[in-house]
Amino acid sequence: MTVEIICVGTELLLGNIVNTNAAFLAEQCADLGLSCYYQTVVGDNRERLLATVKTGLERSDILLFSGGLGPTKDDLTKETVAEALGLPLVEDASSRKLIADYFAMRGMMPTENNWKQALIPQGAWCIENKNGTAPGVGICQDGRYVFLMPGPPNELKPMFTESIVPFLRKLEKDVIASVTVKVVGIGESAAETLVADLMEEQSNPTLAPYAKTGEVHFRITAKAESREAAQALIAPMKKELEARFGAHVYTTKTEVTLEQALAELLMGKGYTMTTAESCTGGMIAARMVNVPGISQVLKAGFVTYANEAKAGFLGVKRETLRTYGAVSAQTAEEMAKGAAQAAGADVAVSVTGVAGPDGGTLDKPVGLVYIGCYVRGQVWTTEHRFSGNRAKIRESTTAAALVQLRKRILEYQAKEGEGTDGRE
Ligand code: ATP
Repeated sequence: MTVEIICVGTELLLGNIVNTNAAFLAEQCADLGLSCYYQTVVGDNRERLLATVKTGLERSDILLFSGGLGPTKDDLTKETVAEALGLPLVEDASSRKLIADYFAMRGMMPTENNWKQALIPQGAWCIENKNGTAPGVGICQDGRYVFLMPGPPNELKPMFTESIVPFLRKLEKDVIASVTVKVVGIGESAAETLVADLMEEQSNPTLAPYAKTGEVHFRITAKAESREAAQALIAPMKKELEARFGAHVYTTKTEVTLEQALAELLMGKGYTMTTAESCTGGMIAARMVNVPGISQVLKAGFVTYANEAKAGFLGVKRETLRTYGAVSAQTAEEMAKGAAQAAGADVAVSVTGVAGPDGGTLDKPVGLVYIGCYVRGQVWTTEHRFSGNRAKIRESTTAAALVQLRKRILEYQAKEGEGTDGRE
């Protein structure tokens, strides 16, 4: 079945708000295996909205509306959709009661226009809104389905996932399953080249790359009559990707983030960690703190911006700072070592770089970053050149620091293995 997403609101057309509802609904439809061929944004204007509804009904099986369900005069979606379908509006008793209860609970009196929200097109059904007063509406006519949802994302999202997704799942007989193979330490084009043949051949399952900061995600999606059958189609492609990318794959679970994979690696070894950050100003530690239970692993995070702080808290030698500068491999190395020692941690990651927009020189341009990794007495440093504005450089540095630390722990582990049983 084909879907069209129609977002109503002049604010969207003016660029006052970003159309996050469209992105959310489109992603959800892709997950459901529904083909979404059109997205339309239309202002709060009756004629243009009417034309949009009619066009949508001609070319799509399912229309998903966002916005324009409120009590005010410029909220026209329900009336206009009803008009396009030739349906009169009738009062829904349960919605009227929900609205009355909503106001009573808050000790407020509904105004006359609040009751407008209890009207629905004849034959339609109401969809409960647990986070606001405007109920959603579902309509089925001549094999076409129309869903009206309120604009506020905190109302639309739960309504869609809790009440509309189960309905759409029943409409689409085939089941869609997907797996995300997440890869780090390899650039987007190199990663794509490595699987170019698989991407060319694809039909079911499909393989799609998504570039993220410091990562590339490959999503494998299959459609079949059951979840098991879809997963069976995915399995060989997943195995092939794992074989081709080897240790670059940090997870094949959609919900697992890089920081989580790193935390699990550290927990598995019983290692503790610390950070020594200059240009990222705590962003690496903050990403680690995204992981619940990180207190088992993360001992401390140092934000050492000034030279005195690098020397004072981390023991970076003044001689090193004078000779090589704060942005240097030598400083990164001493920061990592010093942080590990100060925190009493097994591993440490340090970053020092020029985030810009000012402060760059010919020798040390904006985007130049050094990352230091310390793992139980061993230290590695790497030089990176990132592009983009200050925010982008800091974000790329943070991701690269996590990637580097993961890589060095794996290397250390492999070497340790070599030392103990001599097989690897
Ligand atoms: P309400 O009952 O609050 O009036 P509504 O269904 O009438 O809701 P709108 O009035 O169109 O919805 O939008 C209300 C608010 O919801 C907007 O001010 C905006 O903050 C948010 N919103 C609306 N549409 C979108 C969208 N497509 N993406 C993200 N946010 C949106």
